Amino acid sequence: MRSPAQRLSPIKASVDFEADGVQHGFLRLPYSRDDSAWGSVMIPITVVKRGDGPTALLTGANHGDEYEGPIALFDLARTLTVDRVQGRVIIVPAMNYPAFQAGTRTSPIDRGNLNRSFPGRPDGTVTEKIADYFQRTLLPLADIVLDFHSGGRTLDFLPYAAAHELADKDQERRCFDAVAAFAAPYSMRMIEIDAVGMYDTAAEAMGKVFVTTELSGGGTATARTAQIAKRGTLNVLKHAGIVSGAPEMGPTRWLDMPSAECFRFAEDDGLVEPVVDLGDPVREGDVIARVHPVGRTGLAPAEYRAALDGVLAARHFPGLVKTGDCLAVVATVED
Ligand SMILES: [Zn+2]
Repeated sequence: MRSPAQRLSPIKASVDFEADGVQHGFLRLPYSRDDSAWGSVMIPITVVKRGDGPTALLTGANHGDEYEGPIALFDLARTLTVDRVQGRVIIVPAMNYPAFQAGTRTSPIDRGNLNRSFPGRPDGTVTEKIADYFQRTLLPLADIVLDFHSGGRTLDFLPYAAAHELADKDQERRCFDAVAAFAAPYSMRMIEIDAVGMYDTAAEAMGKVFVTTELSGGGTATARTAQIAKRGTLNVLKHAGIVSGAPEMGPTRWLDMPSAECFRFAEDDGLVEPVVDLGDPVREGDVIARVHPVGRTGLAPAEYRAALDGVLAARHFPGLVKTGDCLAVVATVED
């Protein structure tokens, strides 16, 4: 018996990662089911390669209900010509393709949250198999990794590119240089609620330059955030030296999440009354949201306060909140 680490992935790429040119194809993942006995999940992939140079791995829809990444990456896959590239660009516009097709954060096949499934398993669930393929096949090919996120159906963010604080300060600096090159309206020094199992963590542990984003949310995109995603993608490729030209810079505001005090979680079910909007300045102790009980009239709302000075960087999206939901995130302003 081979251990999971030695077992081959069941995923087969129809593209040749070593061949020059533009190739559109699939990552084919066998998925036997009632309506397709020998069926497959077909994850679209594009490889654009010319000669020697660095490799960028660009991914969207790690969560299936986040749309700026797929918009920018389906567009790039269609329009990026080989003469513009020195090195290699691997584009997977919809990483968790079953979730993307369903318009849900997690996979409808196995409820798998791809961004909590790393390093994955070649003999696991469909979602774990996708994670394993990125872990053992695609990430090792990459020098720089850009993974798009937005708020999805339950969160809404200021548009920012982000990287994490890392033990390797040289790697951390290279990640933040790439965040700066992305040139989103906001740039974030981000902490995670729980980093275990994340694609971010897997890429960072391999020493890659890793950039992620949060670009609005609510289960849709806007004209503005789609443009931010498209421009940021090209900027990162220019920064990496894969596409020629200087990144198209714009003003960015640097934000920091210095501690877990940034997050406010609902301790009540109810109706959310926003008291401040995204980007609004807040002071420690300010009420940022109220949650009104809706079972009967005459009850006072619960008040949620900022634990630090900063700006509202994220908020719960639907009008009703449940106990345990992330209600708000306050980030500090660096400059
Ligand atoms: Zn996400």
